[in-house]
Parts: sequence; C-alpha cells; structure tokens
Amino acid sequence: MGRSSKDKRDIFYRLAKEEGWRARSAFKLLQIDSQFNILANVTKAVDLCAAPGSWSQVLAQSLNGREGAQIVAVDLQAMSPISGVHCLQGDITSDTTAKEIIRLLGDCKAEIVVCDGAPDVTGLHHLDEYLQAQLLLSALNIATCVLKPGGVFVAKMFRSSKAGVDTLYGKVSMFFENVEVAKPRSSRASSIESFIVARNFQLPPDYTPRVGDPNLHFSVTATSDSENVIIPFVTCGDLDGYDGDTTYSLPENYQYRDPVQSPITPPYQEAIRRKKAAKTGTSGGVAEDRPKIKITVLF
Ligand code: SAM
Repeated sequence: MGRSSKDKRDIFYRLAKEEGWRARSAFKLLQIDSQFNILANVTKAVDLCAAPGSWSQVLAQSLNGREGAQIVAVDLQAMSPISGVHCLQGDITSDTTAKEIIRLLGDCKAEIVVCDGAPDVTGLHHLDEYLQAQLLLSALNIATCVLKPGGVFVAKMFRSSKAGVDTLYGKVSMFFENVEVAKPRSSRASSIESFIVARNFQLPPDYTPRVGDPNLHFSVTATSDSENVIIPFVTCGDLDGYDGDTTYSLPENYQYRDPVQSPITPPYQEAIRRKKAAKTGTSGGVAEDRPKIKITVLF
C-alpha cells in the first residue's frame, strides 16, 4: 500500500491535511458546533487531552478576535504551540492542573470545556471501555472545578454496555440541565465513539467540586439514577456531505501531503526505538542517552 492509500480510505484525514488541521478530529468538533452552536459568544475555553491540537485550532479559529478570549489546552504530551492558545502539559486528574487552568484563564472560569481524550488502547475491549469511561469522569470532574454556571461540556464517550452508559449519563445529568449525545458524520459509523454534549452547568447545592473525587460522590438525593431518562441521540454534520466510512477516489490534481503536525514525543517512539535496538543487536533496550532510573524498594 502506498502512502496515499490512507488519503483514499479516509476523506477526513486527507481534508485535515489540505485545510491545515493537525488531526481529522477537527471535523468532529466543527460538526458538533454546527449542530449545537456551542462556540457562539464563548471567550474562555478549555481543551482537555488536546494533543496534537486540532480541537484547540478550532477553538482558536472560533474565538479569534473576541475581546478577552483565552484558551487553555491540556495534555500529558508536549504540544507544539498554537497562536492564541496556552498549552499546558499536565494530567487532567490532577488538582494542580485545575488551578493552573484557572490561572491561565486570567483567574476566571471557562464557558466551555471540551475533551476528546483517549487512554492508551490495550486491545481488550472491556478494559478499553472502562478506561475511556474513567477518563470521561475525570474530565467531568475537572470541568466541575473550572466551568462557569451555565457552561457547556463536550466529551468523547464509548457507547458500550447499557449499565456503563447509564452511569455516565446519570453523573453528567447531575451537573447539567440539558444532556444529549452527538455522532458527527466524520466519526465512523462503525466506531462506538460518540460525544456527550451537556449544557447549562449548575453545581448541585452543597456540592464542593474537587479533582480528587473521580467518582463525583456527593450526598444529594439523585433521582435521575432511578428514573428512566431518554437521552436524545443526534447525528451532526451535513447529511449530503462526506461520510467517514466511504472510500473516495483521489482528485485529478491530487498531491500527497504530510500531516500538518507530527507528534513531538509520541508514546510509540519508545517501542520503535526498542524494535530498532533489538534488530541491530544493541538491545537490552537501554540507549546510552536515556536517563538511568534508580528503583528503591521499601520494606
Ligand atoms: N483532540 C485532539 C486533537 O484534536 O488533536 C486529539 C486527542 S487524542 C485522541 C487523545 C489525547 O488524550 C492524547 O494526546 C493523550 O495524551 C491525552 N490524554 C489521555 N489521558 C490524559 C490525561 N489523564 N491527562 C491529559 N491528557 C490525557
């Protein structure tokens, strides 16, 4: 397979490179916004799990020119700079990250928090779904600390077991008046990925937000867990437009382009290094330039 093969199989991957987006995911946020109009009038936005940064690019483009606009992008990985965006290397499960976000927003809270986060995939489906759900809860948790009342929360979820999904909806519904699930056309129909779009954030009375409470426990009587709630499921993006599952032939004037931004320190870098070292027989896996790690065992 040639290097243009992915361009043929994945129209949004090709378009992202042509239009200057760092990842095809940009189209997901653009399509969600075209349906829900969530970025209108926003001046303070937070992008959780943001690397390589295509959602931050969409935010930067939308907020560009608005008075007092501030965007904070957070990721475990280093991110290449984006004009108009504060890039913060950090863990969304950490209290320090929440404080730093508010500081970078100018001691203000945000009107929108988005999260397209994904943990490293193990290939064990049930474990992957569980980890994704935990990451979404962590995103919700930090959102409760950095969102203004009335704010919006958008986060990637996997529609897996009914019990798992109901728990997520239940938790999100406790903080937001309006909760819907969106499936952008750029997200493959074959993928169980979809996006929670939650609007009108309100902290429940007597609830004190803190990042160290990943299960969002609080002592409010929750009626939504015991009632049957139907969450609207909305497809977004132009129905006559491109479809993420279709293979399109390449246009006549097609020219291959490299991705807009390669990852700075991708997680697979170490695996490639080890594979090369094993091939050349220099293995054992520890390169000369790597820091030696001292492990102390305490009894
Ligand atoms: N929305 C991004 C874009 O448009 O370019 C793509 C995000 S990528 C699918 C998922 C990201 O989640 C990875 O860069 C990963 O480092 C990040 N991530 C996973 N767990 C995280 C955590 N606990 N804190 C911060 N970032 C995390």
